[in-house]
Amino acid sequence: MSVVLPGATIGVLGSGQLGRMFTIAARRMGYRVATFSPEQDTPTGQVADEEVVASYDDLDAIRAFAKRVDVLTFEFENVPSAATEAAAAFVPVRPAGSVLHITQNRLREKDFLARHGFPVTPFHPISSRNELVAALHGCGGRGILKTAGFGYDGKGQARLDSEFEIEDVWPAYEDVPAVLEAFVPFERELSVVAARGLSGQIVTYGVVENRHRNHILDLTIAPASVPDAVAREAMRITEGILEALDVVGVLCVELFLHEDGTVLVNELAPRTHNSGHFTFDASLTSQFEQQLRAVCGLPLGSTEQLRPAAMVNLLGDLWESGEPNWQAAAHFPDVKIHLYGKSEARPGRKMGHLTALAATPELAARRAWQAREALTRR
Ligand code: AMP
Repeated sequence: MSVVLPGATIGVLGSGQLGRMFTIAARRMGYRVATFSPEQDTPTGQVADEEVVASYDDLDAIRAFAKRVDVLTFEFENVPSAATEAAAAFVPVRPAGSVLHITQNRLREKDFLARHGFPVTPFHPISSRNELVAALHGCGGRGILKTAGFGYDGKGQARLDSEFEIEDVWPAYEDVPAVLEAFVPFERELSVVAARGLSGQIVTYGVVENRHRNHILDLTIAPASVPDAVAREAMRITEGILEALDVVGVLCVELFLHEDGTVLVNELAPRTHNSGHFTFDASLTSQFEQQLRAVCGLPLGSTEQLRPAAMVNLLGDLWESGEPNWQAAAHFPDVKIHLYGKSEARPGRKMGHLTALAATPELAARRAWQAREALTRR
């Protein structure tokens, strides 16, 4: 088992905010970080030791990168399998390409989960209009049509409330593999971020509650206020998934708490997750340090949460009428401001987040909202 010690260089495929926060954690512990992505002056590249700019399809560039680093991880899961395979010939890739292969496609992911006995949202593979008509019927007339690959933040999704709506949405799905999910009348959305080390050690951050706006995560409350039995079930499912997938690294399980009290898996992310950002400020070991420890073969750190916390995202929409009022938000001494160094603020783009710490999760949520509100004060 190869342990990667401080002073070594970690390669990161992808260059967004997850890589940026990973890099901050890694550099704090004395590692060097090199990032690889098709873009320049990226959130990760700005804080990394090296920023390599090349396409994920450029396998020669991937091989050259792999030869220069001591372990390879990623912060973006839609890296082509050919790239992770090419890299794996030279350097340990953690989590392995096989984990990416399963989780970057909704159908493969759901098949995997169902085969291993995990509770998933009822789903049907869709490759023709007739299949969609039959599947929607089978789902009781209500469902969500999703592309099988490359979807995030609600992209590539259409809600169907009746057969008559098929006409309008079908053209966008006609040429791509898709999946129809039954509409889940959920009471709440939950997630669990967990890590598994090289030795098989698993740690979890507990269950958090997530609220979305326009399909994009808006607020995370940690811990979630759910019955103990629900929390135990969510943890049991999460630990089982990390084992079944043989993950070395961090993985997030997004869950629905159904109105009937059961827990269903919505989707997996084989990396650090937006709903785990609060751990940067509120936990003994952040999800980013945990990823570092796991992929380096070190023992994992404590996931103890020091204070209740809430996180709100800062989307590009906040920049609509100019630069947000940072000074006003800085007046909240219990709120941490995180910005990702992105120069172009587009609507819906994740530009940063705020984390509030307080005596209770509800109070933390209120403080986070207030601080975000203050950003719009002119
Ligand atoms: P996803 O990209 O699959 O995580 O979906 C984004 C959001 O859409 C979820 O967080 C839910 O709020 C909503 N959603 C997705 N799938 C379903 C479903 N089967 N039933 C109800 N709501 C859903």
